[in-house]
Amino acid sequence: MEELIGSAVTAPARDGQIRIAIAGGGLRATSVLRLLNDIDNLTVAAIYDNSRTAPAMRLAEDLGVFATTQVSELSQISGLDLILDLSDDPVLRATLEAERPAEVAVITGNGSELVWDLLIAKKRSEEQEKIFVELQVAYDKIRSHERRLQSSKEALERANEELESRLAEIFFTHEFFKALTTFSSVDDVTSLIVDGANGILGAEISAVYLFEHRDWTLHLRASQGRLEEYFRPVVPVSETLLGVAFREGFVQQSDVTEGAGLADWTVQPEEVRSQAAMPLRSGDSVIGVLLIASATYRDLTQAERDRLQVISNQSSLALQNALLHEELERLSVTDRLTELYNHGYLHSRLDEEIERAMRFGHRLSVIMLDIDDFKKFNDRYGHPKGDTVLRAVSAIVKQNLREIDVAARYGGEEFVVVLPETDVAGALAVAERIRLSTESFPHITDDHGERVAQTVSLGVATYPVHAADGASLIEAADQAMYRAKRTGKNRVVVAV
Ligand code: GH3
Ligand code: MG
Ligand code: MG
Repeated sequence: MEELIGSAVTAPARDGQIRIAIAGGGLRATSVLRLLNDIDNLTVAAIYDNSRTAPAMRLAEDLGVFATTQVSELSQISGLDLILDLSDDPVLRATLEAERPAEVAVITGNGSELVWDLLIAKKRSEEQEKIFVELQVAYDKIRSHERRLQSSKEALERANEELESRLAEIFFTHEFFKALTTFSSVDDVTSLIVDGANGILGAEISAVYLFEHRDWTLHLRASQGRLEEYFRPVVPVSETLLGVAFREGFVQQSDVTEGAGLADWTVQPEEVRSQAAMPLRSGDSVIGVLLIASATYRDLTQAERDRLQVISNQSSLALQNALLHEELERLSVTDRLTELYNHGYLHSRLDEEIERAMRFGHRLSVIMLDIDDFKKFNDRYGHPKGDTVLRAVSAIVKQNLREIDVAARYGGEEFVVVLPETDVAGALAVAERIRLSTESFPHITDDHGERVAQTVSLGVATYPVHAADGASLIEAADQAMYRAKRTGKNRVVVAV
């Protein structure tokens, strides 16, 4: 304790700190000691009470503050600025006043009350400030959590949308490829390609043009997004974006400059704002071009181009098959459904027969036959039953012909018969027999077991009476057949 006193007494004064001594060691002094001890530029240098066991005296010892029971020691502390008297003891107050060095102030009575009140007020405002700061921190944390939550929610929504559109695309692509493998006609495949361009790439306008070797042109085969009249049916391979794709491969114009002529595949090129074209290849040769376009600006992303590439690769294969199939059909001479000759064969045979008739001075007749109200029949009983009727009518036609006659399926439900060495009367008789057999034939029965009647209309024309060549002869028979239709159907009419 001696040392403690010594050190307090000899401590260097004036270090920018206010040095205070407290007189009186009661509970209030305890609080003041605590509060003052927290203030930065203030030092409690000593505390006095006549009892060492007073609460503030004990606290002072805990805090390492010089505590003394000798009031005279207070005035010996160097650099002391003031003594705060919290004792309420008039004798002590008098002693302090009497013994204080000139530079040391004594705050006592009402003065010390005021110091007490100020310290308490300061403490409260500090606490409030602390609470305020804590609130501020908590609020900031909540805000930042909220922001993070919001942005992760948005990210989640975006990811979800992306996923949904990818799923739709995958689903469509899957269906698209599946359909490609099942479709075999050129029309079906090309329609599917424009469907694909629409469904997978969201193309506004799309078209497939196929290459025609004979005159190096591209022919419209399927389109979507605009009426058919919007597209030029035939485009030379030297022209438009189609030609560029045909010659050079994939090409795109995100922003079509007016008057460039590259959009002239349409009759309204001024409407086209962006366009892209992709060749459809079979091995090294180009068999067609897939075109997509829109009336708004559009730049295909790399991913979209890749998809376009995939569509064109896959559909090129199916298209190649369909073209081969079509070519085979063209080369073969019979129609598969009816097993009669087909259109192409009929023309070549007719030309031969006319030549022969010309050479030998014979007559030759043709009959044009068309099934009556066949559309209604199909609509009512369905296509498969319609096909049954087509086969039945073909069989009836065949049964009424001689070995040298030629019967062909000319169109959907139209038939042409060539009768060499036959005049008008002979042809009329054959036509009438066919008409009667068809009328009385039990083609099909309806749901109530009733026979459904099916009739045909026929036109007859004879060389050289009505025409001098094959095409005109068929035309004359066709006109006669139409007159049979106009005058009530189920009848035979001879050309005029
Ligand atoms: P019209 O008496 O004036 O000849 O009337 P139509 O309904 O027979 O004539 P239209 O030319 O309008 O219709 C021909 C119909 O023939 C339309 C088509 O559904 C049907 N058709 C064409 N080819 C086939 C085929 O291969 N099978 C079936 N089932 N129907 C066919
Ligand atoms: Mg018809
Ligand atoms: Mg018909």
